[in-house]
Amino acid sequence: MEGGKRAAHAMLFPFPCSGHINPTLKLAELLHSRGVHVTFVNTDHNHQRLRRPRGREGFRFESVPDGLDDADRVAPDRTVRLYLSLRKTCKAPLLDLARRLGKRDGVPPVSCVVISGLVSFALAVADDLRVPSFVLWGTSAVGFVCTLRLRQLRLRGYTPLKDETYLTNGYLDTPIDWIAGMPAVRLGDVSSFVRTLDPTSFALRVEEEEANSCARAQGLILNTFHELEADVLDALGDEFPRVYTIGPLAAAMHRRVDHVASGLSLWEEDAACMAWLDARPDPPGSVLYVSFGSLAVLSPGQLAEFAWGLAASNRPFLWVVRPGLVGGDRGMDALPEDFVEATKGRCFIAEWCAQEQVLRHRAVGGFLTHSGWNSTTESIWAGVPMICAPGFADQYINCRYACGEWGIGLRLDEELRREQVAAHVEELMGGGKKAQEMRRNAAQWKARAEAATEPGGSAYENLDKLVEQLRVEGS
Ligand code: UDP
Repeated sequence: MEGGKRAAHAMLFPFPCSGHINPTLKLAELLHSRGVHVTFVNTDHNHQRLRRPRGREGFRFESVPDGLDDADRVAPDRTVRLYLSLRKTCKAPLLDLARRLGKRDGVPPVSCVVISGLVSFALAVADDLRVPSFVLWGTSAVGFVCTLRLRQLRLRGYTPLKDETYLTNGYLDTPIDWIAGMPAVRLGDVSSFVRTLDPTSFALRVEEEEANSCARAQGLILNTFHELEADVLDALGDEFPRVYTIGPLAAAMHRRVDHVASGLSLWEEDAACMAWLDARPDPPGSVLYVSFGSLAVLSPGQLAEFAWGLAASNRPFLWVVRPGLVGGDRGMDALPEDFVEATKGRCFIAEWCAQEQVLRHRAVGGFLTHSGWNSTTESIWAGVPMICAPGFADQYINCRYACGEWGIGLRLDEELRREQVAAHVEELMGGGKKAQEMRRNAAQWKARAEAATEPGGSAYENLDKLVEQLRVEGS
């Protein structure tokens, strides 16, 4: 009991992929650091794959089956299969687990359920337990609003597209100027899901449904900070009265969690890239970090454009080429012949790295990114400007804001060309006028991110409010 209230016990369940697990784990650590008892639930499959899933006093890991078989796991539509399978199979095991947890010695009963996006079926677990639920939606506030508005875009006839010519005839440039709190943006930047020709598009419906179902939860948690997206957050307040902006989560963790015992990673981090960065002879900020996150899949042609663009730039770079980055489940083996030779002495290729540390390393001065939200927030916190190559979901709107509203990004054309890759790398890393302006802006956003997560800052206070809410609602 604390202050007459029962100890809060949060059961957290993210959609089982890195982009959801990582921020949910950070939230779990932050809650635990504030005295909340935490149970972090993985799927059995990931639980076995994850590195270092060590529990400790008041912080335990548990797992539930995901219902997939071996064939599902390698199928091209494995994410869809996973989504459907979780919906079908996971509610009962989660409920059962939550009930069992409360019967163990020294463990308070589960008093709230926290989920990431894409697992809204688990809101019903909270309903059955009669405890409140919270959703950590893993995009920016603007990404969330855009996903909410997919319904209006569909009902107003903007999407699905009439035929394939609409993908290239300028239609995607149609201005969308009626989303409250947002400047006019291109239709194509609202979300990748508008680019469908299929009137029954599964992805479009799922995104719409998942975002709108957040209204069933008692609170919405976002990995952003108020100053970064004030207009859209203010507008969102009418629809979602309880929004907790507690990010950048990486910065909040850094400040509030002394010792992270529960580090999780689905891939092994290559420690040698840190040593390579330490040993770089060039001035600080000279290295470009290149990564496309945990899910993006490039065609061999796209990989070649990036590779030869980087080779032509003559700048040092650290490139994460994870297994599966290239179609056909390929990784480093798909790099063009001669590429390593052509970039010898100024290139390090890793399968996976400790990205937050890499971005904050003094040698790193730019990030060529797919504009995933976690990567974007980590770059903002590190004060590193970006070259943006979005391709999926909210990545287009993140890129639009990074390049437009925040002034910290350069956008690559959708049709990737090695000449433009090389030119953008040169522009960012070469230190010209535009690069200087971006660096100044990035330094300002970094300072604001730091301030937001310091005592008295907006994100710091919101985390405290969230913890208080968990205690009140759970008591
Ligand atoms: N990441 C990492 N090491 C790498 C590449 C990526 O730790 O070598 C992490 C990165 O720090 C981020 C996450 O993977 O937290 C990627 O999330 P993001 O939202 O950027 O993209 P997604 O993977 O969801 O497309």
